[in-house]
Amino acid sequence: MASHAHWMGLALAQAQAAADAGEVPVGAVVVKDGQVIAHGRNSPISDYDPTAHAEVVAIRQAAKVLGNYRLEGCTLYVTLEPCAMCSGAMLHARLDHVVFGAHDTKTGAAGSVMNLFANAQINHHTKVTGGELADACGDLLKTFFKSKRMNTDPLREDTLRTPDAAFADLPDYPWTPKYISDLPSIPGLRMHYLDEGPQDAPMTWLCLHGNPAWSYLYRKMIPVWLSAGHRVVAPDLIGFGKSDKPKKDSFHTFETHRQALLDLTERLDLQRVVLVVQDWGGILGLTLPMDAPERYKGLLLMNTTLATGNEALSPGFLAWRDWCASRPLFDVGKLLLRGNRTLSEGETAAYNAPFPDKGYRAALRAFPPMVPEFSDSPGAAISRQAQDFWRNNWQGQTFMAIGQQDPVLGESVMRSLKHQIQGCPEPMLLADAGHFVQEQGRAIAQAAVRHFTTSTSP
Ligand SMILES: [Zn+2]
Repeated sequence: MASHAHWMGLALAQAQAAADAGEVPVGAVVVKDGQVIAHGRNSPISDYDPTAHAEVVAIRQAAKVLGNYRLEGCTLYVTLEPCAMCSGAMLHARLDHVVFGAHDTKTGAAGSVMNLFANAQINHHTKVTGGELADACGDLLKTFFKSKRMNTDPLREDTLRTPDAAFADLPDYPWTPKYISDLPSIPGLRMHYLDEGPQDAPMTWLCLHGNPAWSYLYRKMIPVWLSAGHRVVAPDLIGFGKSDKPKKDSFHTFETHRQALLDLTERLDLQRVVLVVQDWGGILGLTLPMDAPERYKGLLLMNTTLATGNEALSPGFLAWRDWCASRPLFDVGKLLLRGNRTLSEGETAAYNAPFPDKGYRAALRAFPPMVPEFSDSPGAAISRQAQDFWRNNWQGQTFMAIGQQDPVLGESVMRSLKHQIQGCPEPMLLADAGHFVQEQGRAIAQAAVRHFTTSTSP
């Protein structure tokens, strides 16, 4: 007679087949007189059948094979402790023996949550043994759910995806990644975002980063808002952070990125939003609220601009654009470090993490020349509409913070922006902060919470 481990190995193969089909990996075999007479694997999703657990599938097949609704003399091997339904079916079948692998602390009905087999009134017959190859059975389930959590959506052929390992153990970035892969404006591209705090919070801080950063830039501000009981949503633009990275520079257009952000706010149905913008976060983000003003209650502006094509781009920006063009492989972390000397090695590395090699850098190349420069540049017309909205129709509260050391989108650019926003108060000035002002964002986040929770609506 073969051992329990042998038969459980066959049940494990069934479980693996279930995993390969996208089902929770549980498998079963029924053995009689030293032969497998039936097998089953979990298939409730593919069969549209909530009762299609591996054990039930195997029991039905075994009964057909034997031509008998009673399975006397049979042993059923299953990789996971049976649930109440399956335990009931096993008792009805009058199996001789049930051998299971991993314990199921959530729904196990053979000892973990309850024990139907131990009930003398309903079980006169079936012996039960647990823990056979428990580690192998449990590991299969763990691996399956882990890969689900990591979201292994298929990757488009024209796209790269930074391996998860690049983002392991980032300092001060403990939040669970969320992914969305079916936004209509970017079909098949996986966008990463953070979504923390209660859905019904009085405020949702929608944090938009720019080039060449990602949501990591907001790590000092997010905890302030979460501890105030608010919700924070922080996406990575396509081409940045943990989002998918199209290989071609030509993927990146103002309109595609704008529409992706509109799609995201609609899909997540964001309400009571405080729009938080800096750099491209504002160049794109400031064009969003006019399309759905009812979603927005506040605006937090940091070192950004509205590129309408009406005013010349700042000399600092033009220098940055030239610099990027002449150094296509510039070190992103070092760039951040230049304006933020206190960044640790780990923090500097986190800014490089999204870009393991130059294949991933299309967005870094494409974004600087994409800033609308002339009145007919793509994005300029929509930015002029946005300017009109902020001047004449904006009903919410505004808070502005300026990193004064920024040579690109510094105080003069921001002062000009201030005049374009109805009701924008005197800005908070950060004398030591540079372009990536969020690196000193804790104080800004705290001041903004005070501002938005104490101001009354106009
Ligand atoms: Zn079951």
